[in-house]
Amino acid sequence: MIANIQSITQLEDGWLQVRVPLPFSLKWVNAYLLPEAEGWTLIDPGLRTEETEAFWGAVLSEQDIGWQDIKAIVLTHHHPDHYGMAGWFQEQTGAKVYLSQAALNSAERLWGENEIFSEQLTQAFLCHGLAQELTEDMREHMRGFRERVSPQPAETVILQPGTIFRMGLVDWEIYSGEGHAPGHLIFYDRASGRLLCGDQVLPDISPNIGWMPGGDPDPLGSFLISLQELLPLEVGMVFPGHRNPFPQYRQRIQELLEHHERRLVKMTELLGEEERSAFELCELMFGTKLRGNTHNLRFALAETIAHLIQLEQRKLIARVELDDESAGGVSESLGEPRLIRYRRIISLA
Ligand SMILES: [Zn+2]
Repeated sequence: MIANIQSITQLEDGWLQVRVPLPFSLKWVNAYLLPEAEGWTLIDPGLRTEETEAFWGAVLSEQDIGWQDIKAIVLTHHHPDHYGMAGWFQEQTGAKVYLSQAALNSAERLWGENEIFSEQLTQAFLCHGLAQELTEDMREHMRGFRERVSPQPAETVILQPGTIFRMGLVDWEIYSGEGHAPGHLIFYDRASGRLLCGDQVLPDISPNIGWMPGGDPDPLGSFLISLQELLPLEVGMVFPGHRNPFPQYRQRIQELLEHHERRLVKMTELLGEEERSAFELCELMFGTKLRGNTHNLRFALAETIAHLIQLEQRKLIARVELDDESAGGVSESLGEPRLIRYRRIISLA
């Protein structure tokens, strides 16, 4: 898809919402271009593919924006569909890349030289019951992201939550959201009630809250706390990372909070009186068709584990780590994962 009339929406104050195509079911990620006194600030450029490179060339020429007119590249978080083109854009424009320290750390861990994350994640998923035959797909799926997030930006500037950042001729208060991605930046313009929030609050879809090895130990707990902290902000218009800008800010946060409470109840019901692995519960919750879509399976399994960890935190379920014999001869000495299962805690009261 080359840039067309549906790709770009003119917003107030000369802002541009650019729908950058994604090869996933999400369809597109929103980049925002904010005009400066001289040039533009670009927020979340998208995933790097041949298609998006051509797409951006077409968007900028249609808008009569030169590469050199991009003066700053701002990232809400490190996920590949937002961060992926940052380094490539820096090469074209010479602009600095602004992001949080946690996002930079995460990007280095996931996409840096000598990364071991794809192996760590695959091993962790095997511990959570991932079917053996899916092992190689999962490993390759994670490694497959590397070229879509390359090159890494060479020159970065760290943005600190609690400080003010000027872009688009506005002084933005910087907030940090947790749960979806560590150190997820949120920009709030108190005067106008505008919120640039990346994936922290999305319309229609629930932001993925997934557990990953080496990341937030309880991402769903962090997400619920983060939403409660963000709830009091007076917001008139939300500019999200996916779908379109929307005004129902507090209503949407309430819906997301309720969605996760319902999901936690459902997870407990699916567990029933059995001992089950996260992978079993994932297939009970989302169905076995995910086996044909490694990308969606990764999201679903990481999300299931995040819910199980939160239920553990609430002391409603307990983790059972199977020893070598009961795990059917799976032995740690062979470097094989130790299976983790969950069971409900039956209250005696
Ligand atoms: Zn994201």
